[in-house]
Amino acid sequence: MKLHLNLTVETENSPSPPPSPRPISASPTEHIPATNNWLKRGLTTSTVILTFLILFPPTNLWLKSTPVAKILQGKPPTYTGKIVFPLKGLNAQTAKVTDVPNSPRPLGCKANCRMHAGTDYGYTGDILSVLDGTISEVKPDSPVGGIVGVESGKYTIRYVHLNRDSVRKWKIGQPVQAGELLGIVRETFAGSSGAHPHIELYENGKLSDIRQLIGGI
Ligand SMILES: [Zn+2]
Repeated sequence: MKLHLNLTVETENSPSPPPSPRPISASPTEHIPATNNWLKRGLTTSTVILTFLILFPPTNLWLKSTPVAKILQGKPPTYTGKIVFPLKGLNAQTAKVTDVPNSPRPLGCKANCRMHAGTDYGYTGDILSVLDGTISEVKPDSPVGGIVGVESGKYTIRYVHLNRDSVRKWKIGQPVQAGELLGIVRETFAGSSGAHPHIELYENGKLSDIRQLIGGI
Protein backbone atom coordinates (compact mmCIF):
# COMPACT_ATOMS: atom_id res chain seq x y z
CA MET A 1 0.00 0.00 0.00
CA LYS A 2 2.81 2.31 0.95
CA LEU A 3 4.49 1.70 -2.30
CA HIS A 4 1.27 2.40 -4.12
CA LEU A 5 0.80 5.72 -2.36
CA ASN A 6 4.35 6.69 -2.98
CA LEU A 7 3.90 5.94 -6.59
CA THR A 8 0.72 8.01 -6.75
CA VAL A 9 2.43 10.91 -5.11
CA GLU A 10 5.32 10.65 -7.41
CA THR A 11 3.08 10.59 -10.40
CA GLU A 12 1.10 13.58 -9.27
CA ASN A 13 4.17 15.50 -8.29
CA SER A 14 6.06 14.60 -11.36
CA PRO A 15 3.99 15.29 -14.40
CA SER A 16 5.42 13.78 -17.45
CA PRO A 17 7.75 16.19 -19.06
CA PRO A 18 6.55 17.89 -22.16
CA PRO A 19 7.73 16.20 -25.27
CA SER A 20 11.15 17.34 -26.03
CA PRO A 21 11.21 19.61 -29.00
CA ARG A 22 12.06 17.94 -32.22
CA PRO A 23 15.69 18.34 -32.83
CA ILE A 24 16.24 20.69 -35.59
CA SER A 25 18.29 19.32 -38.36
CA ALA A 26 21.63 20.84 -38.60
CA SER A 27 20.94 21.67 -42.15
CA PRO A 28 18.40 20.71 -44.85
CA THR A 29 21.02 18.72 -46.64
CA GLU A 30 21.27 16.30 -43.73
CA HIS A 31 17.51 15.68 -43.56
CA ILE A 32 16.91 14.82 -47.23
CA PRO A 33 19.21 11.81 -47.41
CA ALA A 34 17.46 10.34 -44.32
CA THR A 35 14.08 10.49 -46.11
CA ASN A 36 15.58 8.97 -49.19
CA ASN A 37 16.95 6.09 -47.16
CA TRP A 38 13.55 5.47 -45.62
CA LEU A 39 11.89 5.51 -49.06
CA LYS A 40 14.54 3.25 -50.48
CA ARG A 41 14.08 0.80 -47.63
CA GLY A 42 10.30 0.81 -48.16
CA LEU A 43 10.66 0.29 -51.87
CA THR A 44 13.16 -2.51 -51.38
CA THR A 45 10.81 -4.29 -48.95
CA SER A 46 7.88 -3.93 -51.38
CA THR A 47 10.01 -5.23 -54.22
CA VAL A 48 11.07 -8.25 -52.19
CA ILE A 49 7.46 -9.03 -51.20
CA LEU A 50 6.21 -8.61 -54.77
CA THR A 51 9.02 -10.76 -56.16
CA PHE A 52 8.25 -13.42 -53.57
CA LEU A 53 4.54 -13.39 -54.49
CA ILE A 54 5.36 -13.66 -58.19
CA LEU A 55 7.81 -16.51 -57.64
CA PHE A 56 5.70 -18.33 -55.05
CA PRO A 57 2.09 -17.37 -55.68
CA PRO A 58 -0.44 -18.49 -53.07
CA THR A 59 -1.83 -21.03 -55.54
CA ASN A 60 -4.25 -22.69 -53.15
CA LEU A 61 -5.96 -19.42 -52.26
CA TRP A 62 -6.28 -18.41 -55.89
CA LEU A 63 -7.54 -21.83 -56.97
CA LYS A 64 -10.18 -21.84 -54.27
CA SER A 65 -11.62 -18.59 -55.50
CA THR A 66 -11.91 -19.56 -59.18
CA PRO A 67 -14.61 -21.62 -60.87
CA VAL A 68 -11.94 -23.86 -62.41
CA ALA A 69 -10.81 -24.86 -58.96
CA LYS A 70 -14.35 -25.76 -58.00
CA ILE A 71 -14.50 -28.16 -60.93
CA LEU A 72 -11.11 -29.64 -60.11
CA GLN A 73 -11.61 -29.99 -56.38
CA GLY A 74 -15.23 -30.94 -56.10
CA LYS A 75 -17.06 -33.65 -57.96
CA PRO A 76 -20.15 -32.68 -59.92
CA PRO A 77 -23.24 -33.35 -57.81
CA THR A 78 -25.09 -35.19 -60.52
CA TYR A 79 -24.28 -37.06 -63.70
CA THR A 80 -25.95 -35.54 -66.72
CA GLY A 81 -24.28 -37.50 -69.53
CA LYS A 82 -25.40 -40.50 -71.54
CA ILE A 83 -26.18 -43.89 -69.94
CA VAL A 84 -25.44 -47.01 -72.00
CA PHE A 85 -26.36 -50.61 -71.17
CA PRO A 86 -23.02 -52.36 -70.56
CA LEU A 87 -23.77 -55.68 -72.31
CA LYS A 88 -23.51 -55.10 -76.04
CA GLY A 89 -26.70 -55.94 -77.90
CA LEU A 90 -28.80 -56.37 -74.74
CA ASN A 91 -30.92 -54.12 -72.55
CA ALA A 92 -32.52 -54.21 -69.10
CA GLN A 93 -35.37 -56.37 -70.41
CA THR A 94 -33.32 -58.91 -72.35
CA ALA A 95 -30.27 -59.25 -70.07
CA LYS A 96 -30.35 -62.12 -67.58
CA VAL A 97 -29.36 -61.18 -64.02
CA THR A 98 -27.78 -64.14 -62.24
CA ASP A 99 -26.82 -62.53 -58.93
CA VAL A 100 -27.35 -59.25 -57.11
CA PRO A 101 -25.46 -57.07 -54.58
CA ASN A 102 -25.51 -58.03 -50.90
CA SER A 103 -26.18 -61.72 -51.56
CA PRO A 104 -23.99 -63.95 -49.35
CA ARG A 105 -20.83 -65.64 -50.59
CA PRO A 106 -20.24 -68.52 -50.93
CA LEU A 107 -23.80 -69.04 -52.16
CA GLY A 108 -25.99 -70.63 -49.52
CA CYS A 109 -23.45 -70.03 -46.72
CA LYS A 110 -24.72 -69.78 -43.14
CA ALA A 111 -21.63 -68.45 -41.35
CA ASN A 112 -18.52 -66.44 -42.19
CA CYS A 113 -20.23 -65.23 -45.31
CA ARG A 114 -18.75 -62.59 -47.55
CA MET A 115 -20.97 -60.08 -49.29
CA HIS A 116 -21.39 -60.10 -53.02
CA ALA A 117 -20.85 -56.53 -54.17
CA GLY A 118 -21.92 -56.63 -57.79
CA THR A 119 -24.67 -57.53 -60.19
CA ASP A 120 -23.85 -60.63 -62.29
CA TYR A 121 -25.21 -61.28 -65.74
CA GLY A 122 -25.43 -64.46 -67.80
CA TYR A 123 -23.49 -63.05 -70.74
CA THR A 124 -20.23 -63.25 -72.63
CA GLY A 125 -19.09 -60.60 -75.07
CA ASP A 126 -18.19 -56.94 -75.18
CA ILE A 127 -18.52 -54.85 -72.00
CA LEU A 128 -19.26 -51.19 -72.64
CA SER A 129 -18.82 -48.27 -70.29
CA VAL A 130 -22.16 -47.29 -68.76
CA LEU A 131 -21.18 -43.65 -68.18
CA ASP A 132 -18.74 -41.04 -69.42
CA GLY A 133 -15.90 -40.87 -66.98
CA THR A 134 -12.27 -41.44 -66.14
CA ILE A 135 -10.42 -44.70 -65.66
CA SER A 136 -9.81 -45.01 -61.92
CA GLU A 137 -8.72 -48.65 -61.65
CA VAL A 138 -6.94 -51.09 -63.99
CA LYS A 139 -6.12 -54.60 -62.75
CA PRO A 140 -5.48 -57.01 -65.62
CA ASP A 141 -3.87 -59.59 -63.33
CA SER A 142 -6.22 -59.68 -60.34
CA PRO A 143 -7.18 -63.11 -58.95
CA VAL A 144 -10.69 -62.66 -60.36
CA GLY A 145 -9.68 -61.69 -63.88
CA GLY A 146 -9.35 -58.28 -65.47
CA ILE A 147 -10.90 -55.35 -63.61
CA VAL A 148 -11.56 -51.85 -64.90
CA GLY A 149 -12.97 -49.06 -62.75
CA VAL A 150 -14.51 -45.88 -64.13
CA GLU A 151 -15.24 -42.80 -62.04
CA SER A 152 -18.04 -40.51 -63.19
CA GLY A 153 -18.74 -37.71 -60.72
CA LYS A 154 -20.37 -39.26 -57.68
CA TYR A 155 -20.49 -42.69 -59.35
CA THR A 156 -17.77 -45.31 -59.56
CA ILE A 157 -18.42 -48.44 -61.57
CA ARG A 158 -16.20 -51.55 -61.44
CA TYR A 159 -16.31 -54.04 -64.29
CA VAL A 160 -14.97 -57.39 -63.09
CA HIS A 161 -14.10 -60.85 -64.59
CA LEU A 162 -13.02 -59.32 -67.89
CA ASN A 163 -10.47 -60.96 -70.14
CA ARG A 164 -7.06 -59.93 -68.84
CA ASP A 165 -5.55 -58.90 -72.16
CA SER A 166 -8.66 -56.96 -73.14
CA VAL A 167 -8.12 -54.45 -70.31
CA ARG A 168 -4.35 -53.96 -70.49
CA LYS A 169 -4.74 -50.99 -72.83
CA TRP A 170 -6.24 -48.80 -70.10
CA LYS A 171 -4.31 -46.33 -67.99
CA ILE A 172 -5.47 -44.58 -64.82
CA GLY A 173 -6.80 -41.12 -65.64
CA GLN A 174 -7.73 -41.92 -69.24
CA PRO A 175 -11.10 -40.49 -70.29
CA VAL A 176 -13.85 -42.90 -71.29
CA GLN A 177 -17.11 -42.28 -73.06
CA ALA A 178 -20.39 -44.02 -72.37
CA GLY A 179 -20.67 -46.92 -74.83
CA GLU A 180 -16.91 -47.29 -75.28
CA LEU A 181 -15.55 -50.85 -75.21
CA LEU A 182 -13.90 -51.42 -71.82
CA GLY A 183 -13.10 -55.12 -72.13
CA ILE A 184 -14.49 -58.50 -73.08
CA VAL A 185 -15.91 -61.40 -71.08
CA ARG A 186 -14.73 -64.54 -72.82
CA GLU A 187 -16.04 -68.08 -72.51
CA THR A 188 -12.51 -69.13 -71.59
CA PHE A 189 -12.51 -67.27 -68.26
CA ALA A 190 -11.30 -69.73 -65.60
CA GLY A 191 -13.23 -68.24 -62.65
CA SER A 192 -14.91 -70.60 -60.21
CA SER A 193 -18.37 -69.41 -61.22
CA GLY A 194 -17.80 -69.50 -64.97
CA ALA A 195 -17.55 -66.68 -67.45
CA HIS A 196 -19.84 -63.75 -66.62
CA PRO A 197 -19.57 -60.01 -66.07
CA HIS A 198 -19.78 -58.74 -62.50
CA ILE A 199 -20.55 -55.02 -62.31
CA GLU A 200 -20.41 -52.95 -59.13
CA LEU A 201 -21.87 -49.48 -58.67
CA TYR A 202 -20.80 -47.13 -55.89
CA GLU A 203 -22.56 -43.84 -55.29
CA ASN A 204 -20.47 -41.40 -53.23
CA GLY A 205 -18.41 -44.42 -52.21
CA LYS A 206 -21.40 -46.41 -50.97
CA LEU A 207 -22.30 -49.72 -52.57
CA SER A 208 -25.38 -49.47 -54.76
CA ASP A 209 -26.70 -51.62 -57.62
CA ILE A 210 -25.83 -50.95 -61.26
CA ARG A 211 -29.49 -51.58 -62.08
CA GLN A 212 -30.27 -48.26 -60.36
CA LEU A 213 -28.66 -46.67 -63.42
CA ILE A 214 -29.38 -49.08 -66.25
CA GLY A 215 -32.71 -50.52 -65.18
CA GLY A 216 -33.81 -54.06 -64.50
CA ILE A 217 -34.84 -53.87 -60.86
ZN1 LIG B 1 -20.42 -61.31 -59.05
